[in-house]
Amino acid sequence: MSAAGTAHREQRRKELARLAEVRGVMFDIDGCLVLSDGPSGHGGRALPGAREAIDLVRATGRSMAVFTNGSMQTPARIAETLRSLGLDVRDEEVLTPAVVAAETMRTLYPGRPVLIFGGPGVQEEFLRHGLPLVDLDRALAGEPADAAAVVIGWDTQFGREKLQVAAEAVLAGAPIYCTSDAPSFASERRFNVGVSGFIASGLSHVTGRPYHVLGKPSREALELLTRRLRVRPEQMLIVGDDLDLECAMARTAGALGCLVTTGTSSAADAEAAPADRRPDFVADGLPEVLELLSLASQDAAPPSAQTQ
Ligand SMILES: [Mg+2]
Repeated sequence: MSAAGTAHREQRRKELARLAEVRGVMFDIDGCLVLSDGPSGHGGRALPGAREAIDLVRATGRSMAVFTNGSMQTPARIAETLRSLGLDVRDEEVLTPAVVAAETMRTLYPGRPVLIFGGPGVQEEFLRHGLPLVDLDRALAGEPADAAAVVIGWDTQFGREKLQVAAEAVLAGAPIYCTSDAPSFASERRFNVGVSGFIASGLSHVTGRPYHVLGKPSREALELLTRRLRVRPEQMLIVGDDLDLECAMARTAGALGCLVTTGTSSAADAEAAPADRRPDFVADGLPEVLELLSLASQDAAPPSAQTQ
């Protein structure tokens, strides 16, 4: 065998050895598990290998999370959509930045009211966590909002009045948090605009104050993921289609990062990526991830299981 062939085999052996150590797997949704024209799989189709990859993660006893940066829908609703596409995903395995936001607010500002921008995906999550919210009507009537923070998610109903109350709260000292500032997200046929970043950028423009993103690849998102997967960061495999989100998060965590080129970023993008977002693996789709995981799982199986 040529020197190049030997080097390639050695490289593959090392990759499989690292994959065999993986105890928890995170999949991105849009552009990774599904492609659709709406966020979080809505109205879409499962990508090839998605069902089998999830089944393999379960069959090998690893923990799993699916993590979208979309905050339009609740985790339960997203799980329902994914199940309707044939993917075996449980409600509690779905993470959204609204979950990160609710848990972060509860930790940072216990008992303090928060002003939120968002539909059911944000509102229901905050209510589920028992967080007090700023009453917009009373704030508009002149009562002090006393907002501890302003949290911005997927909100298609906001108007000038809400922006006014939010801007006043920010100028009074409330920090701005945003679920995601992605300008757009991977979809089947069209450019899908990101709403949360649009509002956060506007509020930041109006107030001159920065915003902090809580979705992938933030430190807060990573901490939540690690807690949910119940593994050490270096035992995680993070799979997604976006170098700036999933691959950056894997690098920060010291986890294994896998780029699938079925969405936003290409193999050429990965090649040119800076070290802080370079993936450990590039796969042209989940079937290749499935194959690698299968090989690694066989390697990791005890001798008795290998001979059966
Ligand atoms: Mg994606």
